[in-house]
Amino acid sequence: MDSLSRQDRAAGAVVGSAVGDALGAPFEFGPAGVYTARFPDGTGTMCGGGGWDPGEATDDTQMAVLVAQSLLERGGLDLPDLFGRFRRWAAGDPKDIGLQTEDVLTSGDPWDTAAALHFQVNGRAAGNGSLMRAATSAVYFAGPRRPDADARATTMDAARRIAALTHGDRAAWEGTAVLHELIRVALNGADPLAAVPEALADVHADHRERWAAVLAPDWHPDRATEFNGAVWPCLGTALWALRTTRSYEASLASAIDVGGDTDTVAAVTGALAGAVYGLGSIPSRWTGPLHVPLPGYGARVLRTPELISLARQLDDGFTDADPAEIQLP
Ligand SMILES: [Mg+2]
Repeated sequence: MDSLSRQDRAAGAVVGSAVGDALGAPFEFGPAGVYTARFPDGTGTMCGGGGWDPGEATDDTQMAVLVAQSLLERGGLDLPDLFGRFRRWAAGDPKDIGLQTEDVLTSGDPWDTAAALHFQVNGRAAGNGSLMRAATSAVYFAGPRRPDADARATTMDAARRIAALTHGDRAAWEGTAVLHELIRVALNGADPLAAVPEALADVHADHRERWAAVLAPDWHPDRATEFNGAVWPCLGTALWALRTTRSYEASLASAIDVGGDTDTVAAVTGALAGAVYGLGSIPSRWTGPLHVPLPGYGARVLRTPELISLARQLDDGFTDADPAEIQLP
């Protein structure tokens, strides 16, 4: 693990998340064991299905790319710009879009109130939709080589702000903040699982206990109290998959085998596992067919080389910008 470069890990996180998304998409809402039933030898392929072409990435990766492009083109976190990009994408008729994300992005309400208003009216806004798109921003905001406590606060703060664009429930902000921090730790070559207690210490006190439960070393997806389209079991399952396997490939098989929201659980797992094991751990039979359409942005389709390029730019991009300049909605 120590021989990997930071660039290997950054590209691993971004490509790893996209591969998980595309690999898991055909199994969405399937039962447990669905992946190993399809691929008994464990050597899964990008099989397509459920309306997805083999290797086609879904809304998870499409939104992660929009986050990356906004960060790079605006030179930092520009929340109104990012919200505008999300809205243009949502209006471009993507094949899939989370219910909550769609409600917020098509409400016509402004960027700084749309998610909060949705939460006020619906009372539920803790879907995994802010978690699924976080690989790119996690790489970007892990950038500054600051002392650990400062770097942790910076990346967790940025994660909350981006999550809050579409998710009014602070539980989603806090979970996305934890994922950002664990990816930061992995990019530094350390063990993200060992960093869970310190990340939890920076979680908002009202939410810490519930997050601590699903991120505990003995937690298992069978103990989930919600469908894994919710933010808690989604991140809990990703950590469980990372903890109980020894390779990028095996972590994705475990994650998808849990069933449910397989593309997003695998996208989150793949971001973490890709950062831990690096780009070279992701098989070419998966990166070859991988492609990311961008509805609302013409016919351009990103493939693995473009995602690697984005990851490199993100890793280099954030030097000393201050995301605290922009207030939370
Ligand atoms: Mg999806």
